[in-house]
Amino acid sequence: MTANAAQTKKHVCASMQQAQDILKQWQAELPRVQAAQAAYKASGRLPRKAVGLMMIGCILGVPFGAFAGALALAVGSVFYVAFDAVLKGGAGTPVVFSLIHHGLVLLWSLLSFLGTYLVVGVVSGWIVGSMGRLGRNRNAPVAIAIAIMTSVAAIFVLRVGIRVFMAHEVASQVTLAISSPYAATLLDWVFFAVGGIIMCIAASILAATQCEDPFCESCGVFMTHARIPLALDGVRHLRHILSNVDIPSAAQSLSSTAEKEGFVDLYRCPACQRGYVCVYPEFCGTWLQDNRPQELSEYWLASSCLLEPGKTEQITRILPQQI
Ligand SMILES: [Zn+2]
Repeated sequence: MTANAAQTKKHVCASMQQAQDILKQWQAELPRVQAAQAAYKASGRLPRKAVGLMMIGCILGVPFGAFAGALALAVGSVFYVAFDAVLKGGAGTPVVFSLIHHGLVLLWSLLSFLGTYLVVGVVSGWIVGSMGRLGRNRNAPVAIAIAIMTSVAAIFVLRVGIRVFMAHEVASQVTLAISSPYAATLLDWVFFAVGGIIMCIAASILAATQCEDPFCESCGVFMTHARIPLALDGVRHLRHILSNVDIPSAAQSLSSTAEKEGFVDLYRCPACQRGYVCVYPEFCGTWLQDNRPQELSEYWLASSCLLEPGKTEQITRILPQQI
């Protein structure tokens, strides 16, 4: 639920050194809170319903992942054929053009091959993660393990499908390593490993992010999430308020900003109104180097706090209004 599309304020600097210095000043004033010290920690609970639903996700994720991979491969191969036809020179083409042509076509088939693995990972990870969220899963490592198994099964189905349904010549033209002529060579295994790592990372991220929202253990629901942009003053003020035990009832309200220098993530249990708040400063510095714009940007967690129902109300009242 990110309603406000505020742009990150760009601080114009004279050099990279100055951008780094300002970032260091910000980090000294608003020190980073390590993830281990954050106020919310997932309970790691894995309801039986979540296991069942993630298994259904696995059964669905294999065919859908393989199908999505086949679509990505088809799009890649259409461009491959078009690319090849456009770049191919007639007889007497200089050797250098021929080499460039081969290089570009090879690069494209490599990208389309890796893209296929990425798509398989994204789709199967998303399906497993969504089913886990439906079952109120709070155990990211189990969701990741099931998502990886699902994506590996999906790519296996895709590889078998290509061998069964497509002529070898077509398959070898489509992609480098999915089928012959590279099959079973060392190169095939290298590409398979690189593609497999990309696929597993994508599946893990998609599965884990579905259960990362704070969960209210007493009400048994995931909290709602709102991200609200803040100016640097707002980040300072909110961090100061949260560091005190009692939130002053007359705390100064934070004005909304079109150019953010940080943001606050506010989570709220829809049933009991207990909440959880995270404050992030966000620095973006730009400078010119050889007349080319360069950028240094970073955001970090500077404060996190669990809120009792009344406190959630107080914090919501002083935050800039969301549309
Ligand atoms: Zn609750």
